[in-house]
Amino acid sequence: MARVFVGVGSSVDPEAHVRSALAHLHEELGLVRVSTFYATPALGRPSDPAFVNGVVEVRDRLPPAALKGLLSRIEDAEGRRRGGDRFAPRPIDLDLLLHGDTASTAPGRHAPSIRRAAPARARAGPRAARHRPPPRGDGRRAAPVSDGAARGTHPGAEGDPRMNSAKVEALVRELLVELGEDPEREGLLRTPSRVARALQFLTSGYRGDVEQIVHQAVFAQRTHNMVIARDIELYSLCEHHVLPFFGRAHIGYVAQGRVIGVSKLARLVDHFARRLQIQERLTEEVASAVLEAVKADGVGVVVEAQHLCMMMRGVEKQNSMMTTSSVLGSFRRSVATRTEFLTLIDQRHL
Ligand code: ZN
Repeated sequence: MARVFVGVGSSVDPEAHVRSALAHLHEELGLVRVSTFYATPALGRPSDPAFVNGVVEVRDRLPPAALKGLLSRIEDAEGRRRGGDRFAPRPIDLDLLLHGDTASTAPGRHAPSIRRAAPARARAGPRAARHRPPPRGDGRRAAPVSDGAARGTHPGAEGDPRMNSAKVEALVRELLVELGEDPEREGLLRTPSRVARALQFLTSGYRGDVEQIVHQAVFAQRTHNMVIARDIELYSLCEHHVLPFFGRAHIGYVAQGRVIGVSKLARLVDHFARRLQIQERLTEEVASAVLEAVKADGVGVVVEAQHLCMMMRGVEKQNSMMTTSSVLGSFRRSVATRTEFLTLIDQRHL
């Protein structure tokens, strides 16, 4: 009997649509295993809802063509509209990933990942899905429980006065002169004020407040599963050269009855990125803030970034992509938990 894996994704009311799609699949085919579901922010569309993704193994009851037809009918039943913007939010997305040895996208990629990604939880049975609600979606949100939110631990982060823009403008004008420029030439006339405004934004993390960010965004939810947010864009300034470094952060945590909105995770990353930083500290600060905010059992954060100070100056160009990680709690204690996290954030083709 062939092994058949189906990718399940949703960005519109995911909890309801994923449950309903899994119920259909179970009725028509039978579910063998269900992976952990995780959320990914919609890239480049911060206001769009996150995509919730998971993988299920179904019984091999139909040939691939008939199975694809069935998946289409379930998508239609869940209200999927075809055509138009293929990146538009969608109630349900079912993809045949693997049928026996026939992978529909990256060969050999999906099947091993579900085996490694969902070791203990992927036990048989349709009920499995019910214990693992997607991290977003609603209907069961209880009262906010954002007591004692995380605080910034960055040196100098607390109590910084607002940036004095007039003074910064004067300093930039001076800097231009020292660089050999004429701050009175037309192209540079408004540069000091532009630089001041840019710096105000790029260092706004000094003046933000973690408690305010997570305020009312932490929700009680009966889940003890791993929640993952991948590919959170980040832009920061290296404290050694005051040049940008930029890349992506991936955050996972094992919930202990509380979850936080994915958009708030992105704002936490911004909070610690918008200041003079080093990548290692940024990674640790985000991990501690998430741990504190959701009182998680464990947290893992991986940051991949490129540093303009290395790229533009031609030093170590080949190593300009740097990866840092920080693991806390159960992510530190348990190799299995850490492995599940690293495997899930590596599933770029799912
Ligand atoms: Zn640097």
